[in-house]
Amino acid sequence: ELILAVESSCDETSVAVIKDGHEILSNIVASQIKSHQRFGGVVPEVASRHHVEQITLCLEDALEKAQVKPTDLTAVAVTYGPGLVGSLLIGIAAAKAFAWAHQLPLIPVNHMAGHIYAARLVKPLEFPLLALLVSGGHTELVYMAEDGHYEIIGETRDDAAGEAYDKVGRILGLSYPSGKELDQLAHLGKDTFHFPRAMIHENNYDFSFSGLKSAFINLVHNANQKGEKLSKENLAASFQASVVDVLSAKTIRACQNWPVKQLVVAGGVAANQGLRERLAKELPKEVPGVELIVPPLRLCGDNAAMIGAAAHVELAKRHTASFDLNAKPGLALG
Ligand code: ATP
Ligand code: MG
Ligand code: FE
Repeated sequence: ELILAVESSCDETSVAVIKDGHEILSNIVASQIKSHQRFGGVVPEVASRHHVEQITLCLEDALEKAQVKPTDLTAVAVTYGPGLVGSLLIGIAAAKAFAWAHQLPLIPVNHMAGHIYAARLVKPLEFPLLALLVSGGHTELVYMAEDGHYEIIGETRDDAAGEAYDKVGRILGLSYPSGKELDQLAHLGKDTFHFPRAMIHENNYDFSFSGLKSAFINLVHNANQKGEKLSKENLAASFQASVVDVLSAKTIRACQNWPVKQLVVAGGVAANQGLRERLAKELPKEVPGVELIVPPLRLCGDNAAMIGAAAHVELAKRHTASFDLNAKPGLALG
């Protein structure tokens, strides 16, 4: 089985060829981040225009690199939400045109399911499992009783974890998106500011990051007014300590209370070194027997390989779409 997968939900244009749901034959990712950096965030109209320019090139590259002809393919998969409507529509139009021209079934894929199934490109999944989904727009704990079944058991009540990294990074003068650089700075500093750990002791699996963001911003502004200079490294380390404490404490508690075999960490923030190290250290101690799967860095951020992995499950269930498939910018899991 060979699936051609297309991803264009935000600011990465990506096309991949995936064999049997787990083997990457190609995974072309064209990032537009340089065009958005001067605006401090993704500009939807700019993103759509870049997707239009990149999508055909990525598609040709993906087939070429995989050494696959259109007639070898089993299906075409595409992200139809959540994401920016204009960006999603470019990928959807390209996938439809390709599927129609080559008489292939079209498989609609949820971008967040894709992030989770990035783990399938590393190891076979065993159910039930728990996924900690941490990305630019989402922070959720997802219970999966089986392939393709999603139950959100907790989520952020305000900002997503990645969003908090990006907003706080901006205060430190880092360029967008600042998660990676903030993570690196954090490793050079110490938790000297002791920011709050919101909701850490509450008996639920929800999160909140906007209070932490405000505490951070107020501290920096007050220091600036007094002409004090705070250590960027210690600020980064203190912020990261709060985020990682809360994410790992609640995730580990969920693993203790739900009958899971694996913990999957997914989404752009799964690239966070602090979070990866903490879970690798604590999970075996606190919940022995639960296997941790964290995709390699290149599969944490947006890419089409993960869409192809998720599509494999949908294809097995014959969840195909007709050619009137539309973008669903606010699509939820489950
Ligand atoms: P969503 O997947 O929710 O639709 P998105 O696709 O924009 O949103 P991703 O591409 O999955 O988000 O992740 C991007 C986010 O990951 C950004 O907010 C970025 O700052 C963050 N990020 C990337 N690397 C790191 C890191 N090492 N530490 C913390 N955050 C990081
Ligand atoms: Mg992105
Ligand atoms: Fe994403």
